[in-house]
Amino acid sequence: MGADIHDVVILGGGPAGLTAAIYAGRARLDTVVIDRGVPGGQMATTDMVENYPGFPNGVSGVELAGLMSEQAERFGARIEMLEVEGLERDGDLWRVRTSGGPYTARAVIVATGTRPRELGVPGEKEFRGRGISYCATCDGAFFRDKPVVVVGGGDSAVTEAEFLTRFASRVTIIHRRDELRAARSLQERVLQNPKVQVRWSTVVTSFLGGDRLQRVRLRDVKTGAESEMEAEGAFIYVGLLPNTGFLAGVVPLDEEGYLVTDEAMALPVPGLFAAGDVRRKRLRQVATAVSDGAVAAMSAEEYIVGKFGRQPERTK
Ligand code: NAP
Repeated sequence: MGADIHDVVILGGGPAGLTAAIYAGRARLDTVVIDRGVPGGQMATTDMVENYPGFPNGVSGVELAGLMSEQAERFGARIEMLEVEGLERDGDLWRVRTSGGPYTARAVIVATGTRPRELGVPGEKEFRGRGISYCATCDGAFFRDKPVVVVGGGDSAVTEAEFLTRFASRVTIIHRRDELRAARSLQERVLQNPKVQVRWSTVVTSFLGGDRLQRVRLRDVKTGAESEMEAEGAFIYVGLLPNTGFLAGVVPLDEEGYLVTDEAMALPVPGLFAAGDVRRKRLRQVATAVSDGAVAAMSAEEYIVGKFGRQPERTK
């Protein structure tokens, strides 16, 4: 039935997906956003976004996510809380399989973002949710007056280490090199914080404890010396993995699993576009996700009008 065919189905409701929804909705395309949880993506798990233009004092990630969702809905986009299970071509259309049944679309924008990479050492799975976390904003408050470690040296590790000083008695960043990867401005702030210390050139070799995490086992990569450190919480920020598993065989992925688009955010399959962190790109930020989303929606609109013509029910 024609009514069941949407113009654009957007997979993922982070800043890229929500911006695509704002633009597609405003272009009067019949637009659905599918996200497994509350919209906002990784942005919504960020305590404070400080580098998104227009908010000189920063804005909470949750608040920005709420504002973007509201704006998308105001332009007519529908947001569905469902898990995407697969995607396949169906003649000139796309069929999106979800936990709530199939959706048919003229164009699909993949904006499924990334998820935290696991460290892959013994004890990590066992203590996940029992001391080990990948989201300081979600779990930091459970560690009031307790010693925690943060593993990693990128922007996430450093930002979240600083956030954790609000609760924890001590925050130890464990980084495998003797220099942080994080932006200078973030580094300077965290290194000045009296609650933060850094164990340089050190890796976690295992997580230890009873019912809950109690200690981390460490190895100094320069000397080979092994040691243990008390830690009731461990927050792991060792990079990201793209959420593209459901696209295997549908569209080529790069060696790390990211989608490679052209400048129009188009993928090498008709009617399929990508936006945000799930793309191979240089800078993964809210500002760049938003830009991708706008371009992807415009490209999807051009594709739909070119291929299917303007649908009368959308122009009323
Ligand atoms: P990232 O930049 O990939 O950094 C990952 C960190 O984990 C690196 O320091 C890396 O060490 C370390 N690492 C990787 N594998 C490891 C392993 N097996 N054992 C120990 N350490 C390991 O990831 P991210 O910090 O999550 O950032 C991801 C993206 O989001 C970046 O583009 C970042 O700029 C962006 N982001 C921005 C902000 C902000 O602007 N405020 C905040 C959060 C994230 P090496 O340094 O030795 O490689």
